[in-house]
Amino acid sequence: MTDPTTNDAGIPVASDEHSLTVGPDGPLLLQDHYLIEQMANFNRERIPERQPHAKGGGAFGKFQVTQDLSEFTRAAVFAPGEQTEVLIRFSTVAGERGSPDTWRDPRGFAVKFYTRDGNLDIVGNNTPVFFIRDPLKFQHFIRSQKRRADNNLRDHDMQWDFWTLSPESAHQVTWLMGDRGIPRTWRHMNGYGSHTYMWINARGERFWVKYHFKTDQGVETFTQDEADQMASADTDYHQRDLFEHIAAGEFPSWTLHVQIMPYEDARAYRFNPFDLTKVWPHRDYPLREVGRMTLDRNVTDYHTEMEQAAFEPNNTVAGTGLSPDKMLLARGFSYSDAHRARLGVNYKQIPVNSAKVEVHSYSKDGAMRVQNVKDPVYAPNSYGGPQANPALTDDGGKWHSDGEMVRAAYTLHAEDDDWGQAGTLVREVLSDEQRARLVDNIVGHLLNGVSEAVLTRAFEYWHNVDKTLGDRVEAGVRAKQGSKDPKAAAQGNPARSSMQAKA
Ligand code: NDP
Repeated sequence: MTDPTTNDAGIPVASDEHSLTVGPDGPLLLQDHYLIEQMANFNRERIPERQPHAKGGGAFGKFQVTQDLSEFTRAAVFAPGEQTEVLIRFSTVAGERGSPDTWRDPRGFAVKFYTRDGNLDIVGNNTPVFFIRDPLKFQHFIRSQKRRADNNLRDHDMQWDFWTLSPESAHQVTWLMGDRGIPRTWRHMNGYGSHTYMWINARGERFWVKYHFKTDQGVETFTQDEADQMASADTDYHQRDLFEHIAAGEFPSWTLHVQIMPYEDARAYRFNPFDLTKVWPHRDYPLREVGRMTLDRNVTDYHTEMEQAAFEPNNTVAGTGLSPDKMLLARGFSYSDAHRARLGVNYKQIPVNSAKVEVHSYSKDGAMRVQNVKDPVYAPNSYGGPQANPALTDDGGKWHSDGEMVRAAYTLHAEDDDWGQAGTLVREVLSDEQRARLVDNIVGHLLNGVSEAVLTRAFEYWHNVDKTLGDRVEAGVRAKQGSKDPKAAAQGNPARSSMQAKA
């Protein structure tokens, strides 16, 4: 037997079909509160979408520790044998909520571990690096990837203008234009914490770590053509793929590895280990397995469990912490601020964001608060309120810092430059076929409404990454310029119409 429909107050209603009227032909009556409630609720169904990472989806699962790395961290979630419930959300970055899943873009890879020490969030991407290294540029970067003010179109000229004026983007743009810039599915991509984080062991010793979630399904990607076709055939392909596989009992998994750097190495390492545009080469700091994350439960209500999910890198638990990465420190503020703006100050009381352990904070009141606050509402107090534990002083991570307050770039380490690691990726990691597709993808993207002045800078940019690659990009663009080949002109969706708008 099905449940009777009620209104939001739990009162059974007489009809799901007919409004209350004076006679069958109307007018409507103001006392039909059920009709009014339905209309009012509907008008308020949409909440602001995320800015950025608006389009996404995910699932629940488990993280099972498989190895013993307790000499490096005392975090319970990484202790041998521990199993923890997790929530993950995958996303694109620049597109809006209805945009295609298969646009070329980094993918968000945000994991919330509901640990016995409170929530740990690793809010990463499917790429180990990022476009910029100073948070002052982040807002500008995202605006350059979204829409113009005048015609409300995405615009490759704006994207390349920003990238070529920001040479630190070269490593990430090389990665993005390569095969991994369009994953075949969310199941077939790796996730990276990207930033450097801190681990702290039981003796209080500190280490720098980078998180790598390696897909157990294998890395698979779409070519630009395949992705363009899929964008029109199934806008929500990645969302559908994940949901259907989990529903069918085919649970995707990732093996979590970490790179571990001794605390003292950071000062003299050949690359600045806190620079988000750099990786730590594996030969210097090899991957060490931690455990396996398996996704085995779909959400039942996308809105409450996914759209309202709130991840924040400042959620670090005992035995883990942040690092001097300027981007990470800024995200520590910015994510929670974004959630306060989008979901309201009490967003952590939404069940999907709530810790599984008891919360004893002194936060109080505010819109949409649902958990009762108990007196005393202040500290210190003499009435048995919660008390902070001074023994926890290393939690959240601490590191040595001194110096004048300046606005300056990071101090350069011996091998720090903007092009080197991008060049290594091109020359040492990619195959001939992958390099050829990289050239094609860059050429297709550049042919899509990029002005001559920005094009010239883009050729120089690719020459700096790799001379041969730069020559091939320049030759490819020049050969196709003026071509009537519609494929050349249309490649690199989504901004294909911006050229027309400006012509
Ligand atoms: P390694 O040869 O030890 O590592 C190469 C890495 O590149 C592997 O992790 C591999 O990932 C990844 N990779 C393979 N194919 C591609 C591709 N088409 N696009 C992007 N990444 C790919 O060398 P290093 O550690 O010295 O790194 C060399 C370069 O590799 C770096 O400059 C960086 O661009 C890239 N890279 C490095 C990572 C790191 O943390 N060191 C992580 C990812 C990329 P997998 O084995 O998971 O398939």
